[in-house]
Amino acid sequence: MTHLEYRKLEDLPTKAVADFILPWSMPGAEMKIRHFRYGIPGSRPRVYLQASLHADEIPGMLVLHHLMRLLDTADRARHIRGEIIIVPAANPMGLSQWTFGTQQGRFESKSGINFNRDYPCLSEALVKTVKDQLNDEASENRELIRQSALTELGNIQPKTPAEAMKQHLLGEGIQSDYVIDLHCDDIALLHLYTSPSSWPEFSDLASQLRAELVLLESVSGGDPFDEACSRPWSDLVAAYPKHPILQGCHATTIELRGGQDVGQDLSSADAANLFRFLQRRKAVLGNPGSLPELSRPARPLKGLEQLCSPQAGITVFRKPLGEEINPGETVADLIDPHAEDPRNGTIPLISESGGFFYARKSNHLVGAGDIIARMCADHPIQGRNAPMLSP
Ligand SMILES: [Zn+2]
Repeated sequence: MTHLEYRKLEDLPTKAVADFILPWSMPGAEMKIRHFRYGIPGSRPRVYLQASLHADEIPGMLVLHHLMRLLDTADRARHIRGEIIIVPAANPMGLSQWTFGTQQGRFESKSGINFNRDYPCLSEALVKTVKDQLNDEASENRELIRQSALTELGNIQPKTPAEAMKQHLLGEGIQSDYVIDLHCDDIALLHLYTSPSSWPEFSDLASQLRAELVLLESVSGGDPFDEACSRPWSDLVAAYPKHPILQGCHATTIELRGGQDVGQDLSSADAANLFRFLQRRKAVLGNPGSLPELSRPARPLKGLEQLCSPQAGITVFRKPLGEEINPGETVADLIDPHAEDPRNGTIPLISESGGFFYARKSNHLVGAGDIIARMCADHPIQGRNAPMLSP
């Protein structure tokens, strides 16, 4: 694993900056991932926040910009107690992929692989490595698992710049007590994904951010970043029930509404809420104030319905986001502009299982099989299994 050389910023007590240089870039096209660190290295809790792993999802970058303004002030006041790592732009490869004026930040253009999928799952290796070393001290087991996870990750030899980038980011995540991965959806209300093993641990974060929905699943399929950070812990708990093993890393993906929800007021309010979370976890001194109520209880990701278009056409939504849809209700109409009799050119798009309507596609021209809306019921839907995330 790469050791980062941090350079301290002179006018602040603890703030430091380091760049991870992505290996094997094209000649003359060096890329780097910039890290900001607050607090004394090794202090706990260690909180890792990154944005724009899907490089075309911009709100998180602005939120972390505002969060760093707050952390700079806290650092000047010597209020930083934990170690906080901020990576405002986690994916320089995706940031630089453009086709005819449109950014392509979700998939690596060379391989077609989603930048937030296919992270190595360290569970199997860890179950073997720590087997004979676990003892009856939860804190010692946690340290053992953290160190072993870093070693196992370091043993993986990446073959491409994208794999090296994923390995590096995962290395930052797995050493941390809390991992907050900032994304956004297309058009959406603020929502979170996390594992049942990190719930209700993240319930204060969700309510502080005024998340409209929390989706819980331990294995969504596709190996996204957050699960690669947290899943080894729950797998080890399951593998060794007789040993005290606490969840050493809680990870969440936060969808900061839709891609167009970028604004100074909105982002600085989100940053202030993340800052309050850091205060609640004693990573920063200070009073976070009172906690708003959670909008609704968390729901299983297995309650998700992804409403697809049966054919090409134009979508016109009947239902607004934020509505609880009943099974059998029409969410949108699909208009076929080629219908010979326009009176027969409207197809109702009906939700089968219903649920809280929280995200939809922005482009109104859709093709057959396109996911046009997502809603989540408060119970698992029979037959709903991984993979459950969008491609
Ligand atoms: Zn994303």
